[in-house]
Amino acid sequence: MVEQESVAVALLGIPSDTNSSFQRGAAAAPAAIRQAMRPYFEEWGNPVAENGIGVVSGENLIDVGNVPVMENVKDVQTISGAVADYSRQYGRVLCLGGDHFVTYPILRGIAAVHGPPTILHFDAHPDIHHEYQGNRLSHASPFARIMEEKLASRLVQVGIRSSDAHQDAQIQHFGVHSIRMNDFEVERVPDLDGPLYISLDLDALDPAFAPGVSHPEPGGLSVREILAVLRKVRGPIVGADIVELNPARDIQDRTAIVAAKFVKEFAGRMLEHLLNTSY
Ligand code: MN
Ligand code: MN
Repeated sequence: MVEQESVAVALLGIPSDTNSSFQRGAAAAPAAIRQAMRPYFEEWGNPVAENGIGVVSGENLIDVGNVPVMENVKDVQTISGAVADYSRQYGRVLCLGGDHFVTYPILRGIAAVHGPPTILHFDAHPDIHHEYQGNRLSHASPFARIMEEKLASRLVQVGIRSSDAHQDAQIQHFGVHSIRMNDFEVERVPDLDGPLYISLDLDALDPAFAPGVSHPEPGGLSVREILAVLRKVRGPIVGADIVELNPARDIQDRTAIVAAKFVKEFAGRMLEHLLNTSY
């Protein structure tokens, strides 16, 4: 295990939009989520997560700012380098996307420090196209790159409700455990131990809860169902991302508030394990 300066969660913004396929807007998400976090993390706020852990901005949740995204292929190295550096410095990194492309370079950084984790991926879409519109770095392809490069020991997807024959073949090829929304129950999600990474595409949620996304797909998860899946996690959560918020499509910050709630809950679970164990 690496030497750490402190036991904390680093909050890292990745304002990437380069690889969105349909509507741009995700680059504005980190700022919108930080704004929505204020009611939890200001002095007068409600910073205690549902597991009882107080998530205190500036103490155990350290906002380290944004990665300087340039919107070119060098971003892969910039993002993975920043994630690795902050993982070594603080122990845990929680990333705010950005489009879902960012999960691929984030996992390069996470795997370099912690080894390949199990990934728990919430999404309406499998995002495992070999390439999309000729783009291997598309936000429809991060999990193809991650599985090819063996950056995950296991991939479990929850909330999927729009796949196709190509992606179904990729899911088979890479041995992905893909739990479809039409037979989703919390009990069907396997118990997850060992180092875990969580990737939350906000379109996994039903648009009733999270309207501010570029690819809304009704019939999705509730906030409470995702929290119930999170409670099944036993192992250390070594990293997480919250991606695909499109503030231009949001309604009175509703989706940003949901994202901010998951910042608190993911950080609370990360800290719970850090406080109870040495890893
Ligand atoms: Mn999606
Ligand atoms: Mn996605």
